[in-house]
Amino acid sequence: MIAKKKLITRDSFDKLILPFYDPASFIPIKGKGSRIWDQQGKEYIDFSSGIAVTSLGHCHPLLNKILSQQSKKLWHISNIFTNEPALRLAKKLISSSFASRVFFANSGAEANEAAFKIARYYSSKVYHLKKNKIISFYNSFHGRTFFTVSVGGQSKYSDYFGPKPPSIMHAVFNKISTIKDIIDNNTAAVVMELIQGEGGIIPATIPFVREIRKLCNKYNALLIFDEVQTGIGRTGKLYAYEHYKVKPDILTIAKSLGGGFPISAMLTTNKIISVIKPGIHGTTYGGNPLACSVAESVMDIINTKKILLGVEKKLKKILFELEIINKRFGLFKEIRGKGLLIGIVLHSEFVKKIHDIIRLAFLEGVIFLTAGHNVIRLAPSLIISKKDITEGMKRFYRALEKCL
Ligand SMILES: *Cc1c(COP(=O)(O)O)cnc(C)c1O
Repeated sequence: MIAKKKLITRDSFDKLILPFYDPASFIPIKGKGSRIWDQQGKEYIDFSSGIAVTSLGHCHPLLNKILSQQSKKLWHISNIFTNEPALRLAKKLISSSFASRVFFANSGAEANEAAFKIARYYSSKVYHLKKNKIISFYNSFHGRTFFTVSVGGQSKYSDYFGPKPPSIMHAVFNKISTIKDIIDNNTAAVVMELIQGEGGIIPATIPFVREIRKLCNKYNALLIFDEVQTGIGRTGKLYAYEHYKVKPDILTIAKSLGGGFPISAMLTTNKIISVIKPGIHGTTYGGNPLACSVAESVMDIINTKKILLGVEKKLKKILFELEIINKRFGLFKEIRGKGLLIGIVLHSEFVKKIHDIIRLAFLEGVIFLTAGHNVIRLAPSLIISKKDITEGMKRFYRALEKCL
């Protein structure tokens, strides 16, 4: 057993796995709270949360308990049946949001795929067959299925895969005139991230989002918020749309929802129900009892004043530490984002070094992400301790001393 274990190294990746990714040189094997450990026992402080997913840290004791309890009852039953955890989770999502109906899937892309399909289906059935245009934004990210990369605003993810689905147009984020130019009675939906995540942690302005809502109302287009990254507490509210006081017609959530267990959801209103019939859309795994029981606990823990108000406190502490770092290194020109979705926008002279900075941070034992080409992204656990923040930032400081 031990000998076999030794054979698994980072080099194995290059021999075994398609290189869609180029993972770090170390292999994490264990996590607890905001700390993870690699094969050699080296410890890291995690400000990435598996890309904004493990919002309650690694191996949260309550989630472990629920997962283990449910694993002894029922894992999977398919959508030929409904199940108690799915119904309980749906109830919690509905009572905490604008929505009155839920559809469960397994990933952000699948929730968005469902949203885009249903938006077109609804508009085609209720209005006319030509009402199928989807408007999204340059630089946006909505997942990696072919429909979602085509709607996404980064052609590097959608080129060379053959003909793209038609009737998708892109406008400039935070520039309302560019959407006014293309929205019309043939528009089925406008889809947006409230904070462009992968694109570089760029928040939509409040007037922009409110104007879009008005335009959607005027043209009978559905407004879809992709809160896959911002939803379930990440920004200090349960949903980021609460900061804007604008309600969508469809909302998608994923990452934080399962705290590390794959699950996503599409939330919508009664308006859509008239056209929905069994068979129009589906999924084998979506809403399975194992995923839903974990997500139900995630909701119970995160949807509390303690956790949501704690986000702002933790942000303050991180900003305080980052200012100290900036005084010494002059690293960044701006911090963007909301709550614990933090974008450190590098000064132009450091942009080329961004991957060296991340790599040296790994070496010092602290884990960050990037977003866009010039942003270091932090998305720590919503319950990261003060001590872990301080220690993580110390390690960041040491990494910068080595590479700047
Ligand atoms: C991560 C992300 C997705 C895709 O989610 P997957 O689970 O990888 O399919 C979609 N939209 C946004 C805004 C995201 O951040």
